[in-house]
Amino acid sequence: MAVVKADAYGHGAVEISKAGNRIGINNFVVAFLEEALELARSDINGEILILNYFDPKYLKEVVHSGISVSLFNIEQIKEWNEVLNENEKKALKIHLNLDTGMRILGFNIEEAHEVIEYLFENGFHLEGIYSHYSDADNVDRDYSNKQLNSFRTFVNEIAQKFNVECLHMSNSAAVLKYKNDLENYVRLGIYSYGLQAEQNILLDEIKPVMSFKSVISDIKNLEKDNTVGYGRSYKAKKKMKIAIIPVGYADGYSRFFSNNGEVLIKGMRCPIVGKICMDQFAVDISGLNKKPSIGEEVVLFGQQNSGFIKAEELAERIGALNYEITCNISKRVERKYVEIV
Ligand SMILES: *Cc1c(COP(=O)(O)O)cnc(C)c1O
Repeated sequence: MAVVKADAYGHGAVEISKAGNRIGINNFVVAFLEEALELARSDINGEILILNYFDPKYLKEVVHSGISVSLFNIEQIKEWNEVLNENEKKALKIHLNLDTGMRILGFNIEEAHEVIEYLFENGFHLEGIYSHYSDADNVDRDYSNKQLNSFRTFVNEIAQKFNVECLHMSNSAAVLKYKNDLENYVRLGIYSYGLQAEQNILLDEIKPVMSFKSVISDIKNLEKDNTVGYGRSYKAKKKMKIAIIPVGYADGYSRFFSNNGEVLIKGMRCPIVGKICMDQFAVDISGLNKKPSIGEEVVLFGQQNSGFIKAEELAERIGALNYEITCNISKRVERKYVEIV
């Protein structure tokens, strides 16, 4: 399953899912109903699973659109039981979220047994059972192994008996580390985008899908002691040249990069000077051999000639996750898609 929640981690869920379809991926995972409906309305082929809560007033729409839903609370299913007729109950595709240790969403083992009884007594169809690792990126594998064993025990008791089709547990960090002979699907998010899932195991084989590019909007000369931008947080120690980049925190380029980051121009790293504004920021280009021109390409992350800035590097600078770097890129930033064969 391709996890395309949060607009495919900022990449654009519709385009990414279409690309998935082209290479034979027909299962998609989102967090919310709105995200599922966007895909369902966009000619995406295959199954769409919602992980999170949705307002039960949309239940009928969910059933009729064929979207699969997550069940994690007994109140949910009682409410659905009131609203749906026999055929709709059979048609609703339910994936039961088993809490094996995450303690966010899901039934504990005992509750899960009860709810499964309830499902079958009331004529519901259970399509899937899944769980989620809470510590898959830890070098210490004890907790994850415990979670895996709980999943195994539960599924061995239940899945065959009730003929549950879809069993899934692994996310990216878990997929290569934990051999789960029961799962017939995995939920792959961050690796799908060529981003690293954990710091301890860096995969060379994956290449980032997204680059973040802009242009130079202006070039200025600074005199010694000139200050740059809001709060005058950068002061020129000598004469220097700066380039202005029309990207700001409203584009999802964090203010924490103020005086703390680099961009690529002509393949060379140019340090950020001063604060990130809402719509722009400045970089020092004094170190470039050749003066760049207005309109020339700037790479905020991605590759340019022999230069490469990774989302992981940006994340590290500001104490964030690589996930946040791409997720936060706002809708003001135009997405352009290039298929690389
Ligand atoms: C987001 C999410 C995933 C995908 O995780 P990655 O680390 O991006 O692979 C898988 N399962 C659940 C339940 C999630 O919420």
